[in-house]
Amino acid sequence: MIYKRSSALFSEAEKVIPGGVNSPVRAFKAVGGTPIFVEKAKGAYLYDADGNQLIDYINSWGPMILGHAFTPVVQAVIEKAKLGTSYGMPTEVETKIAQLAVSMVPNIDKIRFVNSGTEACMSAVRLARGFTGKDKIIKFAGCYHGHSDSFLIQAGSGAVTFGSPNSPGVTIGTAKDTLLAQFNNLESVEQLVKANENEIACIIVEPVPGNMGCIPPNKGFLEGLRTLCDENGVLLIFDEVMTGFRLAKGGAQERLEVNADIVCFGKVIGGGLPVGAFASRNEIMKFLAPEGPVYQAGTLSGNPLAMAAGLAMLTELDENPSIFESLDEKTAYLHKGLSKVFESNQIVHTINRIGSMISVHFSEENVVDFESAALGNNENFKQFFHGMLQEGVYIAPSSFETWFLTDALTYKDLDFTIAACERVVQKMK
Ligand SMILES: *Cc1c(COP(=O)(O)O)cnc(C)c1O
Repeated sequence: MIYKRSSALFSEAEKVIPGGVNSPVRAFKAVGGTPIFVEKAKGAYLYDADGNQLIDYINSWGPMILGHAFTPVVQAVIEKAKLGTSYGMPTEVETKIAQLAVSMVPNIDKIRFVNSGTEACMSAVRLARGFTGKDKIIKFAGCYHGHSDSFLIQAGSGAVTFGSPNSPGVTIGTAKDTLLAQFNNLESVEQLVKANENEIACIIVEPVPGNMGCIPPNKGFLEGLRTLCDENGVLLIFDEVMTGFRLAKGGAQERLEVNADIVCFGKVIGGGLPVGAFASRNEIMKFLAPEGPVYQAGTLSGNPLAMAAGLAMLTELDENPSIFESLDEKTAYLHKGLSKVFESNQIVHTINRIGSMISVHFSEENVVDFESAALGNNENFKQFFHGMLQEGVYIAPSSFETWFLTDALTYKDLDFTIAACERVVQKMK
C-alpha cells in the first residue's frame, strides 16, 4: 500500500501544528514513519488520503464500539445541528442521557458531563479531595488518566510511548501529592496508605488498564483496593474512560463486580463526539457546584450535539445487550487466531485480553503491570505494526496501547486480519 499523500499532508501539518498532530499518540514516533491521514470511515473501515481501505482496530481509541459513522448517531447529530449547536443553557437531552447512564451503570445516582476524559478524571479527583478534606492521591504506574498535572506521574499511553512518563511543566508541589503504586500489587498500595495515614483522598485506577497494553486485574486486586479504601476513609475512583459501556453495559464495575465511589467516563459515552463524565452517589455528588462548594464548570459541557450522539450510542447498547457478547466472541476468535499464528512461527509473545480489549506483547513474561509491559521487544513490534499496515490492518502505533474491537467487524475481517498476521510474521522470523 502507498501512503504518499498522507506523507505530504503530514509535512504540511508539521509546519503549523506541533509534531503535526493534535494528540501525541497519533504520531508514529514509537514505530517510525509518518501517520496516516484519514479522509472518511464507515463501519469497520478507514479510508485514507491515498484511497487505501484499512481495517481499523483503534476505533478512535475506543468510542466507535459499533463502527464508524453508525447511522443512528450520525442522524441524531444532523437533526440536532439544525436546531443550533450550543446555547450555554440547559437542554432536555442532557437529562435524557443522564437518566439512561444512571440506569445502565451500577452504583451511581448522579452524573456530570464534561468535554473529555481528562476533564472527568481531573474533576473526580477534585471532588474526592473536597469531599474527604484530604490532599494526596494514589495512582498506578502505567495508568493514564488524561493529561492534567496530577496524573502525569509515570503515566501510560503517549506519555510512556514518548519516554516522558513524567512531564516537565508539572511542579514539584503538584507531583508530591501524587503517590505511585504498582498495578496488581496490593502490598504496594497498603504500604502507601499506611505511610500516609489520614492524608489520602482517593485511589484512582483503570480497573482494566488499557494504556500500557491491556492488563486484566489479578483476582482479588480490585476487591483488595475496595476493602483498603473502606477501612481507611479513602475514596475509590474507577477511571472507566476506556472500560465504561465497553466491558459491559455497566462497565468494569458490572463485569468485575467491584463498586467504586466515583466513576469516570469518556470515549464510548460520547459516541465519537468530545464527551466525558463523572458519576457517584448523592452523598458525594452534592458536594459539586452549584449544590456544593467544589467548583467545576464548562461552556460547552452537555453540548447538544455531543449529548445527542452519546444518547443514540447508549440507547443502542442498552437495547441490544447481546452486542457485548458478540464483541467478546469476536475478540476471543481474533485472540485464538493470532496466538496460533505466533505459536506456529515460534514468535515469542503474550496476548492479553478482556472483553473487546486486546493487546499483543512481544514478550515472554506475563504482562501484569508497567514493569512487565515495558519488557516487550519494540523492534518486533515496529516490524509487526508496519507489516500489518502494509496489509491494510491498522493497529495502534505503540505497544503500550490496546486494540479496541468494533461490532461492525465481520468474521471475514477477522480472518483477513489473521491471514495478514501470518504473512507479516513470516517476514519477521
Ligand atoms: C483516554 C483516556 C483518558 C483521557 O481521555 P481524553 O478524552 O483523551 O481526555 C483518561 N483515562 C483513560 C483510562 C483513558 O483511556
